Amino acid sequence: TQYVYRFGGGVSDGGKGDKNLLGGKGSNLAEMASIGLPVPPGFTISTAMCSRYYAEGERFPDSLREEVANGLAHIEGITGKRFGDVSDPLLVSVRSGARVSMPGMMDTVLNLGLNDETVEGLATIAGDPRFAWDSYRRFIQMYSDVVLGLDHGRFEEALEIAKEDRGVHLDTDLGADDWRRLTVRYKELVEEELGRPFPQDVHEQLWGAVGAVFGSWQSERAKVYRRLNAIPADWGTAVNVQAMVFGNMGETSATGVAFTRNPATGERAYYGEYLINAQGEDVVAGIRTPQYLTRIARETAGARAASMEESMPEVYAELARVFDLLEGHYRDMQDIEFTVERGKLFMLQTRSGKRTARAALRIAVEMASEGLISEEEAVLRIDPSALDQLLHPTLDPAAERNVIAKGLPASPGAASGAAVFDADTAEKRATLGEKVILVRTETSPEDIHGMHAAQGILTARGGMTSHAAVVARGMGRPCVSGAGSVFIDLGQRLLRVGGVEVREGETITIDGTSGEVMLGEVATVQPELVGDFGTLMVWADKVRRLRVRTNAETPADCRTAREFGAEGIGLCRTEHMFFDAGRITAVRQMILAEDEGGRRAALTKLLPEQRGDFEEIFRIMAGLPVTIRLLDPPLHEFLPHSEAEFADVAQAAGITVDVLRRRVGELHEFNPMLGHRGCRLGITYPEIYEMQARAIFEAAATVAAESGEAPIPEIMVPLVGTRAELRIIRELIERTAKAVFDEQGKSVDYRVGTMIELPRAALLANQIAEEAQFFSFGTNDLTQTTLGVSRDDAGRFLTTYVEKGIFERDPFVSIDEDGVGQLISLAAERGRTVKPDLKLGICGEHGGDPTSIDFCERTGLDYVSASPYRVPIARLAAAQSAL
Ligand code: ADP
Ligand code: MG
Ligand code: MG
Repeated sequence: TQYVYRFGGGVSDGGKGDKNLLGGKGSNLAEMASIGLPVPPGFTISTAMCSRYYAEGERFPDSLREEVANGLAHIEGITGKRFGDVSDPLLVSVRSGARVSMPGMMDTVLNLGLNDETVEGLATIAGDPRFAWDSYRRFIQMYSDVVLGLDHGRFEEALEIAKEDRGVHLDTDLGADDWRRLTVRYKELVEEELGRPFPQDVHEQLWGAVGAVFGSWQSERAKVYRRLNAIPADWGTAVNVQAMVFGNMGETSATGVAFTRNPATGERAYYGEYLINAQGEDVVAGIRTPQYLTRIARETAGARAASMEESMPEVYAELARVFDLLEGHYRDMQDIEFTVERGKLFMLQTRSGKRTARAALRIAVEMASEGLISEEEAVLRIDPSALDQLLHPTLDPAAERNVIAKGLPASPGAASGAAVFDADTAEKRATLGEKVILVRTETSPEDIHGMHAAQGILTARGGMTSHAAVVARGMGRPCVSGAGSVFIDLGQRLLRVGGVEVREGETITIDGTSGEVMLGEVATVQPELVGDFGTLMVWADKVRRLRVRTNAETPADCRTAREFGAEGIGLCRTEHMFFDAGRITAVRQMILAEDEGGRRAALTKLLPEQRGDFEEIFRIMAGLPVTIRLLDPPLHEFLPHSEAEFADVAQAAGITVDVLRRRVGELHEFNPMLGHRGCRLGITYPEIYEMQARAIFEAAATVAAESGEAPIPEIMVPLVGTRAELRIIRELIERTAKAVFDEQGKSVDYRVGTMIELPRAALLANQIAEEAQFFSFGTNDLTQTTLGVSRDDAGRFLTTYVEKGIFERDPFVSIDEDGVGQLISLAAERGRTVKPDLKLGICGEHGGDPTSIDFCERTGLDYVSASPYRVPIARLAAAQSAL
C-alpha cells in the first residue's frame, strides 16, 4: 500500500475527494495545487498510516522511510533546496490534519530542518540573519513543546527576560543577535530538562515530528474534542510535510487567515486578519493584535493600523482573486490560511468555514440567489440542530443595559451567568445546575470542557479567529472576544474593568452579536422568523413530505408553535391541565372519592374547566387537527407526597387526614410506569374519560359555531395493549359524542385513535387498527417498554452504555432503529394492511430529533410532532430527509 501522496509543482496525487485518506488539510492542499494555486510543495502521509502506527505499537514500517525519502525528493526537486543542506537548507512544516477540522486540537511544527549549521546557511542565503535566528528560536520552542513534551512556560519566560534586557515590548523589536542568544538559552533549557541536547540531525527531527503528530491524535484534549463532536477514534490523522514559506522575512512578508464571507453574520464580504513580519501561529495565538484585511473592516472597527488592502494592494488583489476562485470551486464559504513571502502569496490551507447558524442561513440563501447552489442544496446546507441557536431569545433592545466593556462580536447570541475564571470551575458549577460565563484572558484547547459547560465565553485577548471565537462558533455558544479593557485577576478571583470589579460568581451578561459585556442579567425577547430564515423555511416546505405538528397544551405554546409553522397538535397532554391551581382540589376530590357517585360529583366541577381549555386551544388551532390524549398518569401523581401538605388537602377534600393517608397508601404503586395508568384508568373509571370526551365535543361544537374553521379533534387513547381495551373506550367516546351532538342539535368531525407505546400493541397492530382511525407512536414509552429501561433511572448507566458503544446514541434522544424502529415499521405495515388510510404519526421526544425524523420519513409516517421550539428544526429535517 501507498502511504505517501505528493502535491505541488504540477503534481497532485490526491484531491478534495480524498478527505478520509488524506485528511481535510491534505486533500485540500492537493486540490488547490491541482487548480493552479500557489501551494508550497509537500506530501501527505495518509490516515491509514496512523491506524497502522497504533496497531503496530507506535512504530513506523520500513517501507515508510523509503516513501518519505521520495516525498522529500519531490519537494527538493521543486524548491531546488536540500533538506539538511548547510548552504541552502530546505525547511518544512509538519502538520496534522484529520478528516474533519479540530481547531487547535492537534499539533504542528514549523521551520523544521534548522540546526546550528543550517541556520547560518539560511541567514546567508536569505541575506537576513534576523529572520534566520527568529525562525530557529521558533523552531526550538515549538519542537520542544510538541515533540519533546517540555512545558513552554520556561521558554516564554526566557523570551520575556530577553525583551526586558533590551527594554522592548514586541517580539519584532528584537534583532538577530537577540534571537541568536535566545536560541542558546533555549538549547540550554532543553538540556537541563531532558538531560540530552536538542536534536541536530534533521532526519531525527522529521521523524520525531511525524511521530508527535500521530501521537497528538491520542492526546487528552483531542479525545475530549472527539467525544463532544462524535468523531470516531479510528479515523486517525494524516501528517502533512510541506516546504516552509516565510511570513517573517520583514516588512514585505506577512501571514493571515481569512473567510470568504463573514462567519458571524454571513455577509458577503471578505473577512480576515493578518500580521506583517510574522509566522502563522502568531495570528491565532494572539501574540500581537492582528490587522484587518479589508479597508472597510478596518474603518468599521475604527482601527488605525493599515489594512492589507491598503498596505499591500497588489498582494491583496491577488488574494481576493483566489478567494473568489476557491469559493466558486468549492461552492461554499472557505476558511483560508495564507502567507506572503517577500511580496509573493502562498496558500497554506482552505476548508469550508465554520459559521454561526445565522451566517449559515444567510450564506445558503444568498448562494442560491447568486446561482452558485440550488435551493435544494441550500436546504441541505443547514444543520437543523443548529437552528436552535436562532430560535432562542435575544437581548431585549428596550431593556436597560449596564455596559462595562466592549469586545469583538465573535459568536452571536446573548447569555447571562455567573462569571467564572477557569474551565474546571465552569464545569463544576454547571454540573450543579448553575449558569456560568467563562471569562479568560484567552482560551486554549485545554479549556474546551469549560467552554462547553458555559452559557457563553468572554476573552480579554484575541481576534475573530482566535481559539475562543472559532470554538464558540462551532459549539453555538455566544462569545465576546478581545475585550481589551477587561483585566482578570486570577489570584483574587475577580475581573476589573474601568472602575468596576466583578467577583467570581457575580452575574454578567454578554451579547455575542454586539460585543457588549453587561453587569447583571438583561431581559430577553423572542426572535422573529423572518428574512433568510423565512426564505429557507419556504424552500424546505416545498420539498417536505412529512407534516409537522407540535406537542403543546398551553395557549402560549400553541401560539408559539403556530408561529413556528406547526400544522396541528400531535400531542396535547390533558393531565397538565389537571395540575392547575384552580382545579387540583376538584381533581383530588375525584381521586379520593370512595365511589362512582363521588367521582362524578367532582368531575362535574372539572368539566367546564376542561371545556374552557379545549376551546382556547381549538381557537388557536382553527382548521388544524388537534390530537388530545386522554388522562395518562397514575392518579397518585396528583396527591400530596409530604405529611406537611396532608392537613390542607384533607380539609379541602372534606375528609380526615387518616382517610387521606389511607387512600394515598392504597394508591401507592411499586412501578407506576407499568401500573394503573393510561387506558387502564378509562377502563376502571369510565366516568373520567367520559367527562374528557364530553369537554372535547362541547368545546369543538362551540368553536365550530363561532368560526367557520372547525377544529378536527383526534381523541387519543394511551397505553393500549389489546384490541378490547380500545373497543370499550372507543364505544364510550362514540356514545358521548352522540349524546353531545343530540343535545346541541349539530355534530363535528372527529377521530378516535390510539398511541402505540407497548410492544404488544405494535405486534397486534392489525387487530388494533380495526378500532382506530390513527396511530401515534409514543416513542418515549415504547422505548422504555421495548428496552426494559426506565428513562428516569437510566441516567446511572446510559452514558457508560453510549461510551462503550453498546448503544450508538442515547435511545431516548434518537430512535433505536434496530429495536424500537423495527416495532414501529412493523406496526405501520400491519396497521395499514387493515386500514390503508390509517393516519400514522409520532409524538415522543424523538419527533424533534433530525435522525429520528429521517427514520420516520423512511418508514412512511404521515407526520412528526415536536415541542414548539423544535418545530422549525423538524420542518427542515423533514425536508432534508425527503431530498
Ligand atoms: P492548525 O491546524 O492548527 O491550523 P496548521 O498545520 O494549519 O495547524 O499550521 C499552523 C500555522 O502554521 C498556520 O497558521 C499555518 O498557516 C502555518 N503553516 C503551516 N505550514 C506552513 C508552511 N509550510 N509555511 C508557512 N506557514 C505554515
Ligand atoms: Mg491551519
Ligand atoms: Mg406514554
